Amino acid sequence: MSNLRFKVVGEAFAKKPLEIVTPEERPSDYFAKYVFNKQKMFKYLPAKVYAKMCDVIDNGAPLDRAIADEVAAGMKKWAMELGVTHYTHWFQPLTEGTAEKHDGFVEHDWKGGMVEEFEGKLLVQQEPDASSFPNGGIRSTFEARGYSAWDPASPVFVIGDTLMIPTVFISYTGEALDYKAPLKKALRAVNKAATDVVKYFNPEVTKVQANLGWEQEYFLVDEGLYSARPDLLMTGRTLMGHDSAKNQQMEDHYFGAIPSRVAAFMKDLEIQALELGIPCKTRHNEVAPNQFELAPIFEECNLAVDHNMLIMSLMKKVARKHGFRVLLHEKPFAGINGSGKHNNWSLSTNTGVVLHAPGKDAESTLRFITFVVETLMGVYRHNGLLKASIMSATNAHRLGANEAPPAIISSFLGKQVSDTLDQIENSKTDELITMSGKKGLKLDIPSIPELMIDNTDRNRTSPFAFTGNRFEFRAVGSEANCASAMIALNTAVAEALADFKVRVDEKIAKGEQKFSAILEVLREDIKTCKPIRFDGNGYSDEWVVEAGKRGLDIEKSCPLIFDRYLDKASIDMFERMNVMTAKELEARNEIKWETYTKKIQIEARIFGDLAMNHIIPTATRYQSSLIDNVCKLKEIFPADKVAKLSANNLELIEQISEHTAFISANVEQMIEERKKANKIASEREKAIAYHDNVAPMLETIRYHIDKLEMIVDDQMWILPKYRELLFIR
Ligand code: ADP
Ligand code: MG
Repeated sequence: MSNLRFKVVGEAFAKKPLEIVTPEERPSDYFAKYVFNKQKMFKYLPAKVYAKMCDVIDNGAPLDRAIADEVAAGMKKWAMELGVTHYTHWFQPLTEGTAEKHDGFVEHDWKGGMVEEFEGKLLVQQEPDASSFPNGGIRSTFEARGYSAWDPASPVFVIGDTLMIPTVFISYTGEALDYKAPLKKALRAVNKAATDVVKYFNPEVTKVQANLGWEQEYFLVDEGLYSARPDLLMTGRTLMGHDSAKNQQMEDHYFGAIPSRVAAFMKDLEIQALELGIPCKTRHNEVAPNQFELAPIFEECNLAVDHNMLIMSLMKKVARKHGFRVLLHEKPFAGINGSGKHNNWSLSTNTGVVLHAPGKDAESTLRFITFVVETLMGVYRHNGLLKASIMSATNAHRLGANEAPPAIISSFLGKQVSDTLDQIENSKTDELITMSGKKGLKLDIPSIPELMIDNTDRNRTSPFAFTGNRFEFRAVGSEANCASAMIALNTAVAEALADFKVRVDEKIAKGEQKFSAILEVLREDIKTCKPIRFDGNGYSDEWVVEAGKRGLDIEKSCPLIFDRYLDKASIDMFERMNVMTAKELEARNEIKWETYTKKIQIEARIFGDLAMNHIIPTATRYQSSLIDNVCKLKEIFPADKVAKLSANNLELIEQISEHTAFISANVEQMIEERKKANKIASEREKAIAYHDNVAPMLETIRYHIDKLEMIVDDQMWILPKYRELLFIR
């Protein structure tokens, strides 16, 4: 029999790695080559338009339509010098990834020829047909229109022959149909609330920005092998496959030497990313074989989110050029580590202070503690919502396993910060501060030098860990749009800071000193949010019990976790902070449940197909060859010998029958469960049915398929095995 699997392996390995591109310039020379950033604006825009654009970008001033034409003209000139012929609004609908619709610059010149045009109104607004994007029922058919609007805070860039314009995507009735619109609102909220609070300490501050540094994990698989795995192709993960004899137990991959074929891919990717203004910095092997990580230097959150979306699509493109496929799924392979996307997050002021970095004197130490405690307050109050913000059908495979953050949100602070909070909690205000002269504050708590919080003081099991000058939200999935987590986190912290200010101001109004008012409110909050602080092992069973007692959210079912978006506390928070309305939240949840169902449905279908037309026929064919062997033994040996000689094969024949019988009966049963679930009208109930009744069957059936993989002749097994998929040579 011609064996597809070996043909594919052969072809793939015969492919030579592409040459490594070694440009003569340094990264700093070609950084942002294809980005219309301030430098390009300065060159291509009239001085007064440039000044106005700086105000729009730096201070969020409204974009004056009158200058849009001049900005568009400058952009067009720059883009055409790069050979650009098309433009597109680039947005982030509530599916995965990004969306774009290209239009040419060309127009009739009405003299029989064509002319390149790009007017301001095309830059500022477009009307993509919104009806085919998920909207959760926001638009009834008579208003099936949406529009995309330019986000000048994220610069336009060029990919190939196209000018890409980052935009928000909104329905005609004003509801957000994307991630960017609510993210920008959440960032506005946290800017306002944090600026108000920081003014207690630094009255000169006029703006606070949220920073995001994401760390993108991913797997690479040889393209030929990938194509021979319909499950990888359709769902992004292997739905079956026995453990490889060697996987990550030797711990030899993490930070190991990068295979040369992979190094060539990484280098190519980095150059292209740098040209698009993504400040790539770190690359290394991850824990699992074929798993890698890429991280840029942190940036303003809105821009960082766009850059992450961009890098995910860039990775896919560059990987194909190198004969790879990139897997962004959170758990492509059972039994080995999954992929996450740590979101390193902090707040900083327009005066250059990182508010989550320890201070150097009493006042800045108190400011630091204020921002740490109010961050914890936000995370504590909305821990269920934060979990919902990172939850998906795919990330659910990763959370709670012994390699990823547990499915309970808690925060690790490290000994020094923890001790400081305990000290404030257990003392009286006048023991801590002494007012002296103009300076006004002497804080009797040890200052926390930044360097002292070293790398050893880390807890890898914590989903929300303080790491020296930032918090690291580790539960975010590798495939996710970071915006989802960032919307929830920034809004929750904005709300906590706003509440903090109200209470401090009340005390000040009653005549209390500013710093003692701050300390008193902090003491209250340290007590309130204590349940979120956890320095122990997040994977232990005791923690689940303990977290439940503390009132933290311990729900594990993905469709039920989505309910947290519709809790009264969540709706109140999003509405108060002007980020999303109840109507938007409800619509978005419909999409979440629907997406969950579709994912499991697709997995179940492809799984059923593979089981019935790949696995069972192969196993049966092998079984027939065993039967044939037993029959022939009978022909050539006397009866008393045959029994002994065919014992092993008879045993295998029986095992194969048992496994295949189980598989076909259960695939049928799974189809029945799907039929039942499909009849349910409510998206929520349907998703629950898929979670409870369909998804678990994939696991039970898989067990038998993986057993067959160990029995059936390797030459006959059609699907590439884990040991082939996981080791790039
Ligand atoms: P790790 O040791 O966790 O791999 P790295 O040193 O690689 O961490 O940094 C991870 C990310 O955190 C990088 O993107 C880095 O720029 C970012 N980062 C560093 N400081 C901050 C900060 N104050 N706020 C937000 N992100 C930060
Ligand atoms: Mg990290």
